[in-house]
Amino acid sequence: MTKKDFEQLHDIISLGYSEHPRLSEYQKLVYPVISRRSGGLSLGINLNPDKKCSFRCVYCQVDREKKITNLKVEVGQIVTELNHWLGIFAKNEGKYKGFSLKDISIAGDGEPTTVKVLPQLLLKLIELQKEFRLDKCKIILFTNASRLNRPDLLPVLDDLMANRGEIWCKFDFWDEQSFRAINRSKISAKKLIENIKAVGRKYPLTLQSCFFSWQEEIYSSQKYQKYVEQVTRLIDDGVKIKLIQAYTLARRPSDTRAVAWSDTEMNQLVRFLGQQISVRIETFYAAGLK
Ligand code: SF4
Repeated sequence: MTKKDFEQLHDIISLGYSEHPRLSEYQKLVYPVISRRSGGLSLGINLNPDKKCSFRCVYCQVDREKKITNLKVEVGQIVTELNHWLGIFAKNEGKYKGFSLKDISIAGDGEPTTVKVLPQLLLKLIELQKEFRLDKCKIILFTNASRLNRPDLLPVLDDLMANRGEIWCKFDFWDEQSFRAINRSKISAKKLIENIKAVGRKYPLTLQSCFFSWQEEIYSSQKYQKYVEQVTRLIDDGVKIKLIQAYTLARRPSDTRAVAWSDTEMNQLVRFLGQQISVRIETFYAAGLK
């Protein structure tokens, strides 16, 4: 990767809440993004440029019709790219195009816990965090929990969580049926809940829950009573939940029968959840955080 490659990239990158270019078409695994949920600039790492995921969520906003890159996921390439980006922040008082770095997040176009190099990468990120003295920068692992409790990952989570690490775990079902309908995975809801319990009893988790209207249904808070009960069961079973990010669709979903709840409906929903669940809830509307 030459300096010229990166220079061309900086001309292409435009940062904004509505833009989420992953840069994989430019053979890159690291991309800067303005993230609503991080509240600023995040350096994303795309561990799934092949767009493979263990879920097939109806609301997924990854464009799987676009040509899939044959980019290989290698820790060496990720570290080279991160060195480039972190060097820019270091030279510019922690900023890029006017935005401060909030976090480095492992996210991308699929499920990171299914990728072999994840534990090795997390350890490298902790090294870089120290080397560049990123005292306020978090390291966030986005996951749908499908392989969250794999044996080679669990010991590394100790290091992650001791170094401003966070686990942001997708959770928007309440039983096998809703899981099949929303997340459409071959894994069972029971197995996912076991994985969440295995990790969430030890470390506080952020739950990311997507709420939306399905097939033109009219909003009803009662629909989410079972979600409340499922979250309550997790808490009763010892899972530490530090935050729920309740969000609705902000971009075009894979199945257009899923449509964003309006701001009013999201407010109603979050009020309903907040009356029964004693966890802080952040609301993300179709047009962003208000
Ligand atoms: S888990 Fe994420 S990437 Fe995978 S299908 Fe669901 S929304 Fe898309």
